[in-house]
Order: sequence, then structure tokens, then C-alpha cells
Amino acid sequence: RDSMFDPKDYIRTVPDWPKPGVQFRDITTLLSNGPVFRQLIDTFIDRYQPVGLDAVVGIDARGFILGAPLAYQLGLAFVPVRKQGKLPFDTFEEAYELEYGEAILQVHADALDPGQRVLVIDDLVATGGTLMAACKLVQRLGADVHECAAIVDLPALGGSQAVLDAGFGFHALCQYE
Ligand code: IMP
Repeated sequence: RDSMFDPKDYIRTVPDWPKPGVQFRDITTLLSNGPVFRQLIDTFIDRYQPVGLDAVVGIDARGFILGAPLAYQLGLAFVPVRKQGKLPFDTFEEAYELEYGEAILQVHADALDPGQRVLVIDDLVATGGTLMAACKLVQRLGADVHECAAIVDLPALGGSQAVLDAGFGFHALCQYE
């Protein structure tokens, strides 16, 4: 393992996307380098292997890219939390605030068992609305959020602090001010 690994060396910043003034942190340049993608997943493996988790909950859609290889390598269940209208069976849902209006995340009602310990993962935390909605869904299923993980935290937007204030653990590999 490369202990000096810094995801920021491989994340691309796209100015003024999806609209003027936004600096979009693009992780596709991290994923497109095979050894670096492996190092990224291995960094999460090293942190979560010793925990004894039951499942990895990945958030639609970039959380799937991280959560699936992590669950596979750890031999854990992978549970998708999806945007509204994608899951075919009975669901629980949580609404959360977007900049304009709101969005809804859903999870299958039988996706986790009560008492299971799970990791919730996404690529980036901004306001924290997405991650908090996913954590609430995990709680609705009676499972326990061991921690939330992301590659990137944007602390100026307060999301990671909101997640911590709500009583969930949080861990990010890097930050942009
Ligand atoms: P939040 O709900 O405000 O914390 O926004 C986080 C969600 O928006 C995550 O699912 C991210 O994938 C996405 N997101 C917001 N800004 C960015 C960005 O700069 N790069 C990549 N994803 C972003």
C-alpha cells in the first residue's frame, strides 16, 4: 500500500460546471487510472476490514462505483440506495433538499436486517443532504450506520459537520476548502 496516496493528485476540477461559479470535483480521472483506482479502494479496505461490518450501502450513482468493489473484497452485502423510481420492490423513501426543490432516495424494504452494521459510501459530501437521507433510510430498516465515507469533503458547505451532529461517524480521504 502507498501511504502517501492523495486522491487530490488525481481528481480533476472542472470550473463553471454544471453552472457558472461551481467548481466540480470530477473523480473520473481517478477511476480511469487502474493502479490508482485500486489504491483508492484498498485505502477504504484497510480502514473497514477490521470493523466486522455486515453491508456496504452505496449511493446512486458514484457511490456504487466505490461501494461494490469494497463489498466484494470484504465479502459483504452491497445495498444500493437509489434515486426515486428505480427500485422494483417495496421501498422506504427519504426526501432531501436540493439547491432548487427536493429529491427522493429509496431503498428496498428488505435490503438490511435489524442490527446490521453498515458503511454508507458516496464520492463527495457537499451540504450532506444526500448522505443524511441515506443514513435515515438505513435507520428505517433498523440497521446501524457504523460510519459514512467519501473520497471528498467540502467542509465549507457544512455537510460533514451536519452528519457528525446527527450522530453518524464520518470519514473522507481529502478536502477542498
Ligand atoms: P450534498 O447532498 O449537497 O452533500 O451533495 C452531494 C451529492 O452531490 C453527492 O451524491 C455527489 O455525488 C454530488 N456532488 C455535488 N457536488 C459534486 C462535485 O463537485 N463532484 C462530484 N459530485 C458532486
